[in-house]
Amino acid sequence: MKVSADRDGKSRDVKFIFVTGGVSSSLGKGLTAASLGRLLKARGISVTMLKLDPYINIDPGTLNPFEHGEVFVTEDGGETDLDLGHYERFIDEHLTKNSNATTGSIYFEVLAAERRGDFLGKTVQVIPHITNEIKRRIRRLATDDIDVVITEVGGTVGDIEILPFLEAIRQFRLEVGRDNVSFVHVTFVPYMGPTGEQKTKPTQHSVTVLRSSGVQPDAIVCRSDRPLPEDLKLKISNFCDVSASAVANAPDVESIYEIPLVFHEEGLDRVVCQRLGLEGRPDLTAWKQALSSLKDPQETTRIAIVGKYVRLHDAYLSVAEALSHSAAQCGVGLELEWVDAELVLPSGELMHQAVTGVNSHTPSLPDFDGIVLPGGFGPRGIEGKTNAAHFTRVYEIPCLGLCLGMQAMTIEYARNQLQLQAASSTELHPQTTLPIIDLMHDQRDLKNLGGTMRLGAYPAVLLEGSAVATAYGVTEVSERHRHRYELTTECYAAHLDDGDFIASGVSPDGKLVEFIELRGHPYWVGTQAHPEFKSRLNKPAPLFTAFMQAAKERSRARAPRLFGQESQPLGV
Ligand code: GLN
Repeated sequence: MKVSADRDGKSRDVKFIFVTGGVSSSLGKGLTAASLGRLLKARGISVTMLKLDPYINIDPGTLNPFEHGEVFVTEDGGETDLDLGHYERFIDEHLTKNSNATTGSIYFEVLAAERRGDFLGKTVQVIPHITNEIKRRIRRLATDDIDVVITEVGGTVGDIEILPFLEAIRQFRLEVGRDNVSFVHVTFVPYMGPTGEQKTKPTQHSVTVLRSSGVQPDAIVCRSDRPLPEDLKLKISNFCDVSASAVANAPDVESIYEIPLVFHEEGLDRVVCQRLGLEGRPDLTAWKQALSSLKDPQETTRIAIVGKYVRLHDAYLSVAEALSHSAAQCGVGLELEWVDAELVLPSGELMHQAVTGVNSHTPSLPDFDGIVLPGGFGPRGIEGKTNAAHFTRVYEIPCLGLCLGMQAMTIEYARNQLQLQAASSTELHPQTTLPIIDLMHDQRDLKNLGGTMRLGAYPAVLLEGSAVATAYGVTEVSERHRHRYELTTECYAAHLDDGDFIASGVSPDGKLVEFIELRGHPYWVGTQAHPEFKSRLNKPAPLFTAFMQAAKERSRARAPRLFGQESQPLGV
């Protein structure tokens, strides 16, 4: 198998980088792969990425956010692993559902082929049938416009589940040629407190296990909580049979966006490019500029995410990233806290232990400069979100509602401002007499199956002069969706249009409300979409930037005045 692309009339080999991990999970393999992607793009190389996930689920769409973190949604409606969010944010490209392959989806494909009789009576086996399908998933990303495909092998070397992946990438190198493949292995070098030493043995063991699958790394990325001295790098080089210059250290950093710069300093991209015969020097000026805006802010804003999965911050990963991008854009430091929606009282007071962040205990919502109501599924926590929405509306605290968050804002307004006490969503109260948020007619037959999701990018038309249109600077936008329930324009016109609660963006056919806002409020905006998925450090999502700007203004108004005046909390 030779994979070559034909660009500018010239045929050339596509290159492949495989990132594996050893010693422990959660070492930042995804960020390593994404950072390498950024460094290649900075050399003018076109990159795409793939995550191989060892679990049996067909995709992460059905996984509990508490267990697996956020489900990242691609433009084409793929429900994918959250690492794809890192990939997109770092390489600044839209990926598709083809960039995530789970063991389940690979078996599913092979079994469907078996049922069709495609294997002509042969015994279907892990090798070659499953490994062939894995290789096909990698190869199909090598389109004409792509120079390098970076594949992250999920899981940890030594896991039973990832053996077919390791075997497939071993075969892959043989098939496309040694000079077209580079293996990068990410490990952990722990610090032993009692002896005050950093230990390389786990790294040595994990490389031994990797080599037993026939994969010899070209470079090793050593994660550590403190810098690794040169002699330990030499030791790893010796024991693991990689050159000393190919042992890169990645100690913990303050911001994930520093990682590409750390790798570049360590020469990781040089080693990989040499291996693959890729030329050019990276131009990291733009990345450094974007990064510098994250550093040394003169002032801070205190933002709360009020959601039901707040105990696992990864469940709202893209929301948190979009907030940090917009904070950098507005020149403020982000003080982010996580509030359990179930513990928000109608008064806006927070019950004990509602705040799970690292910061001090926060007694009530007015202590924040802005509140984000993120997405979610199922009835639990929605009443608390509705309480929070009410509080932000009445006390003029900037509020951004995302999907379920927008639905909660709409229900709140209907109940408390328009006196429509019965107003609800059929997701929360299936028997409600006023279902302002409901499945679409054509979905009701599927109700027992939970309806079908609206997934991926959908366009919307914005109301000229609205806060939303001002934030975007245009009136035609497209954002990604992941939900079943909707607010229709028909329902809006019949029950909610009081001249203040504005449907500021609708679907092009005029049937669905995609954005809402409140006239006269500093910032009370909701969207049925998830703009956080498209936010990048250098291109923050416009609704987040406008929200952060409003939060910054509130923070300034609350800050202690000069000449010894006391601070005046707003709104209470
Ligand atoms: N559960 C809601 C729906 O399905 C909202 C989903 C979300 O917030 N992503 O419509």
